[in-house]
Amino acid sequence: MTTEPATLTVDDTIKMLRETFCVAATAIGMFYGPLGDTRTQEHIDRLQALIADCDRQRPLGPDGKHGDGPRCTPTCGCEDRPAEPEFRTADEAMEWLRSIVVPVYGDVRAVRGLIWATGEIVHPSRHGGDRTLWDRLEAAKRLLDSDPRAYWKKAP
Ligand SMILES: [Zn+2]
Repeated sequence: MTTEPATLTVDDTIKMLRETFCVAATAIGMFYGPLGDTRTQEHIDRLQALIADCDRQRPLGPDGKHGDGPRCTPTCGCEDRPAEPEFRTADEAMEWLRSIVVPVYGDVRAVRGLIWATGEIVHPSRHGGDRTLWDRLEAAKRLLDSDPRAYWKKAP
């Protein structure tokens, strides 16, 4: 038995998925709840977990809107996300790599592993040809390459 978290991929945006999960959770509660179905809560809990992950990847403000800019994440789905500056330090680059990889692959410690896994996740073929994240990975690689002191050599 595996304890790997499930990863599903669909074409819909997180915004649309969240809406569907909310509608489904409400509908299941209304339809099956009164029938005393024993698995109703289980289904609702699972949908709530999906909704929570939508909110993690595409956070909403107090007004219920995501907006564009400060709340954007690497996976929020905004197309006109303001360009992020290049990394200033190797730590910043590492932090970004981990923010991409850890939610998908869990904790990856080796730098080469992090870079490989990030490449898998941000490849333009998975983002409708969008190279924004891919270019950022290149920037991270350039920085880490120029700073072998801390990272490449220390990697287990
Ligand atoms: Zn966004």
